[in-house]
This record gives sequence, structure tokens and C-alpha cells, in this order.
Amino acid sequence: MVSNIGDVKEDLFADLSEKKTLFTDRSALTSHYLPNELPGREKEIRTLARHLYRAFDRCARNAFIYGVSGAGKTVVVRYVFSQLRDYKHDDGRNVDLCFINCKQTHTITQILGTLINSLTVPSNSFKPRKTWAGYSSSGLLDKFIDLYNKKERVFFVVFDEVDQLPPSSQDILYYLTRLKEQEKVNTPISTLGISNDIHFFENLDPRIQSSFGHDTFVFKTYNAVELGQILSRRVELGVKKGVVDKDVLGLCSALGAREHGDARKSLDLLRICIEIAEDQGEKKVSTNMVREADEKMESQVVQNIIESFSIHEKLVLFAILKETGRKKEATTGKIYAQYGSLCDNLHLNTLTQRRVTDYISQMDMLGIINAQVIYKGRHGRTRVICLTVQRSEVEKTLYKDEDIRTAGGSPAYKLEDFAR
Ligand code: ADP
Ligand code: MG
Repeated sequence: MVSNIGDVKEDLFADLSEKKTLFTDRSALTSHYLPNELPGREKEIRTLARHLYRAFDRCARNAFIYGVSGAGKTVVVRYVFSQLRDYKHDDGRNVDLCFINCKQTHTITQILGTLINSLTVPSNSFKPRKTWAGYSSSGLLDKFIDLYNKKERVFFVVFDEVDQLPPSSQDILYYLTRLKEQEKVNTPISTLGISNDIHFFENLDPRIQSSFGHDTFVFKTYNAVELGQILSRRVELGVKKGVVDKDVLGLCSALGAREHGDARKSLDLLRICIEIAEDQGEKKVSTNMVREADEKMESQVVQNIIESFSIHEKLVLFAILKETGRKKEATTGKIYAQYGSLCDNLHLNTLTQRRVTDYISQMDMLGIINAQVIYKGRHGRTRVICLTVQRSEVEKTLYKDEDIRTAGGSPAYKLEDFAR
């Protein structure tokens, strides 16, 4: 028996010490890690490097990179630029880069602020970056141009996840590429857009499309063999010998390949199943642990999606849950009626059936439900809806919301369950 608090502390940390870990370098399996080899992307790296290098000829090298999520777009661009930044041209010029993630940085002010910071704060500095909130965009643009023209530059701006840029901010893509033509800057600015959504580029304002140029690089999806190569390199870099065998690697690769060749999914699976083995005090990962990791990841994804829903989306899902509880499948009409009575319980106005149908299509696309259109001859068509994820998972996540508990009457779960 543990006799005093001091003993408890000592045991606690001794248990978590380095000796017990199955990793040699845990960071090698995280998303921030920049490997010095990218299996399966050698050709893309070389082509992109050749394309970007031409910017030294004082002409803009704009391009658009497209590929599904987890296809290695961000990591390839980071890899190429990490080398390009270290490169000094024969005439002494080197490259300046501004990397913008449009999911986090999406207003014109934020983007211009980031551009200014990239010219003033060294990228390896830990000093907090100025936000530039409250400045006008025209003032910021002038400031940027002023700083930009202080020397002759070979300058690139990468817009990662550019499809997340709202229409109100998309003009920045146009302005930046046209600054040279308008003789506001002395050397051109090259822009690179990265997107998971190929339609984003097709749907852009034609002015922006033409200034981006027509250089599009498409990253094809990885197959299970390529994912296996990516994973085994990471295992060599970060995991102790003997922890992960061929079967485990094969399963992590196959599950990533099934998910549209997603390297992120395969890597996360690998990291999580090793952590499961650590937690269970095992020295080796089993394929069952991979499956456990897969379930853990899937339920986390479903939870995150549902938690981000508005109250009406949650009520629609709740109505689906209630209706499919009885018969497994439900029609749009029944769901709409159920949704209406849930809204009544909360004294909320209902949305139109059309809006609710849109929500149902969205949930279908997100993979939470399956909505199949059934044609009923003269009587038109209806949709038959069923859940494609675990009921209990959806129920538990929905019931975390107090409004849902109010709308639904007595909860199916005890309150203690929500904390889990
Ligand atoms: P995308 O930007 O296309 O969604 P990422 O570039 O973020 O995908 O890649 C997802 C994860 O997979 C990252 O952790 C990345 O380091 C890793 N990755 C992708 N492709 C490779 C590769 N060829 N070699 C090594 N790691 C890779
Ligand atoms: Mg990315």
C-alpha cells in the first residue's frame, strides 16, 4: 500500500519515464514533422522545384496545387521551400517566403498583416507577431509595398487551404499578382494556391484565374504500397525496434488507402495504436490495437462534426435519431414533422423543409447518414434516411447540448455519461 503522497508522485512519473516509451522520437510521427525524404513524391518535388526556380528570371511563377486531403501537398511545398530558402543564386539573391494558412488567416487585414510580418520578423524568431488589427487594408497594402520595395526580391506567397478563403477576401489573390503590372512593386510576387477542392479554382473569378496562370499541379492519391513506404520511414525515425511489425504497418496503410489514400490518417493511426500499446504496458502493437485506434479516431471525427453544428442542424439530426430508432429508416417527411415538434418544445421557429433537406444532404456528404432518393412514380420522390455511424455515439454527443436535452424530454443517458 502507498503510505504517503511522496510515494504516489514518484510511482506516477517513474511509470511514464522514457524507459517505458515505445518511441525513440515521438515528434517524427506528428503532423509538424518535416521528413528529409518524401517517398512517392519525388517527381512532384522535382517538377515543383523546377517551376519555382524560374522566378529568379524576374517573372512571377504562379501555380495551383490540387489533391485530396492527406495527399502530401503541404509537406511537399514546405519541403521544396525549406531548400529554396537556403539556396543562394549565383548573383547573391535568395528567396523570401510568406506562408499563409487560409483556415486561420482569412481576412484581408490578417493576410496583409502576415505579409508585412514576413518581411520584418525573421521566421525563426519567437517574438509574438503583430496582429495589425484595426489598421485599414489600404494602409496595410501601402506599408507592405513600401517594405517590399526596399530591396530586389524573389518573393513567394503560399496560400495553403486557399479554398477556405471567403469570397470577400479572394480579391487579394488578384491584387498581389497584379502589383508588378501596375508598377507598384519593382519585382513580381509569385503566388501558390493549395487546395483540396479542384472546383474552387474553376469557380474563381476569371480575373483571378488568369492571374494565377494555368499551371496546375495535381497530386494523385497514394496507394497502400506508397503509404506503407511513408510509414516505414517514420517508424525507422521514431519508433523502437520490434514494436511495429509488417502486419500492423500493412493494416495502417490499407485503412489510409481506403480513406482516399490519406497519409494523415495512416500516420495518426500508427501513432495512436502505439500509444494504446504503451498505455496497456505492451511492448508490441497488435492489429487489434490498430482497429481500436481506428474506432477511436472515427468517433472523434463524428463528435467534432456534431459539436460544430448549429442548434437547427442538431435538431434535424436528433429528429433523424428518433425516427430511425423505431424503424431504422425514415423518410424526409417524417423527419421534418419530428423536427417541427422538437422546435416547438424549445419555442423555436422551424426552418423551411427545403433548408432541412439541405442539412440532410450535408450530413449525407459528411458520412453521418445515408440518404437515398426513392422515386414513387406519380407521387414524386422521397428520401430514405438511415444512420451510418454508431447511434450511441451520436446520442451521447447530442445530449451534451442542454437545448437538446430540453427538446428531447428525459435523456437516454445519465448526466455522468456526458463528462466522458
Ligand atoms: P495535405 O496538405 O495534402 O492534406 P499533408 O502534406 O499535410 O497533406 O500530409 C499529411 C501528413 O502525411 C503529414 O503529416 C505529412 O508529413 C505526411 N506525408 C504526406 N506525404 C508524405 C510523404 N510522401 N512522405 C512522408 N510523409 C508524408
Ligand atoms: Mg495541407
